[in-house]
Amino acid sequence: MPSGTAVELGATWFHGVKDNPVYDMAVWQGAVKDVRYENDLHKHDIDWQLHFARPGQSDLLSGAMQKLAVEAVARYTEAAEECTQGAQAQERTVGDVLRRTFDEAVQEEGLQGEALKVFADSWQFREKLQRTFDGFFSTDDVSLAFAREYESLDGPNLPVPGGYQALAQLLAQGMDVRTGHCVTSIQYGAWGALVSCSNGAQFQAEVVLVTTSVGVLQAQHATLFNPPLPDWKVEALFGVHIGVADKLFIEFEIEPEQCAEAAAWLSGRGGSQSQR
Ligand SMILES: Cc1cc2nc3c(=O)[nH]c(=O)nc-3n(C[C@H](O)[C@H](O)[C@H](O)COP(=O)(O)OP(=O)(O)OC[C@H]3O[C@@H](n4cnc5c(N)ncnc54)[C@H](O)[C@@H]3O)c2cc1C
Repeated sequence: MPSGTAVELGATWFHGVKDNPVYDMAVWQGAVKDVRYENDLHKHDIDWQLHFARPGQSDLLSGAMQKLAVEAVARYTEAAEECTQGAQAQERTVGDVLRRTFDEAVQEEGLQGEALKVFADSWQFREKLQRTFDGFFSTDDVSLAFAREYESLDGPNLPVPGGYQALAQLLAQGMDVRTGHCVTSIQYGAWGALVSCSNGAQFQAEVVLVTTSVGVLQAQHATLFNPPLPDWKVEALFGVHIGVADKLFIEFEIEPEQCAEAAAWLSGRGGSQSQR
């Protein structure tokens, strides 16, 4: 990359600071300013504003349609956050609840024609945003039963100074961390475990904690573990799906009112909506 180019290498944010063990650890390490006990924690929140334009058009939606688009986004957010409370007996996934909520909203508002299209497109936009937050392919992959167990941490989203890598480096101080060791097999038994790496290194241990991603385990579990993992574990492993989340960063050197033009420019090349 040309020098000076900003690149996101991965996790950058603390998502909530209350009862967040990672944030607690960062405070303890002196890596961040402690905001946990401030009265107005949410003053740190980013103020989002949504302005919608139709794909390929430079003008923002008209006042009434703009309002409808913003309402669709708000109703999706409310439904996604409260989906476990009003769920009906036959509903199994978050997708089931969202579809019903959408239909109810359309009926309540009596939406038709252009209004229905704007509402549906904005709903879709919000669905895509949720997918990037949660990393799922479809809300039908998200069990309603387990959504009940999901709790967002309170407090603002704050950037990790220097990224999580900086935090990892702080925590690793004084520890024997070996990078560049690709584990190819883990033999284990009552005697403990033997870890072998592609560079020939071997390590013996009482226990081994494997924290590779689900994707790595799905692809390599058969060759990685000796003896193989029990069937129930493999079945559980393949019950987890990971979606694709794309992020697009755009730096605007324009006035806010010129944003619509940029949105239209993007929409014409595959994006559907834009936010600033
Ligand atoms: C673009 C992006 C942005 C994100 N932003 C945020 C954010 O802002 N805030 C947030 O909280 N979360 C964020 N996340 C999620 C967060 O990064 C993950 O939840 C977190 O990194 C998971 O940590 P982990 O240790 O479980 O797995 P990983 O970080 O995936 O670590 C697994 C490690 O195992 C290693 N490995 C794999 N196979 C082998 C092998 N055979 N031998 C040796 N090592 C192996 C890999 O190289 C890797 O280093 C983001 C994720 C992405 C992709």
